[in-house]
Amino acid sequence: MAERRCFVCNHIFENTRPVCHVVFFDDGEIQVDCGQDDHGDADEFSRSFCLVGLNHIVVRDESLPEIFRREKPNTSFGRNDAQSPWISYVL
Ligand SMILES: [Zn+2]
Repeated sequence: MAERRCFVCNHIFENTRPVCHVVFFDDGEIQVDCGQDDHGDADEFSRSFCLVGLNHIVVRDESLPEIFRREKPNTSFGRNDAQSPWISYVL
């Protein structure tokens, strides 16, 4: 099976913050970020994200495999911090 990849913010890439936001787009792309709003805008925003293998992300937190099992296009999952429950949203 080909490895899935996802876009992560620099905080997830550098593992300085927990994953608090996961977005499943309708084209199959996945974005995983820290859920905070300090990624800049426009050009800066796209520069703070990069592609990594999803398998490297899923193993970071025991609640994440469940979120990726619930993958659904046009849906996002968010939580306030690593101890809070995940909440799903329709995009
Ligand atoms: Zn971030």
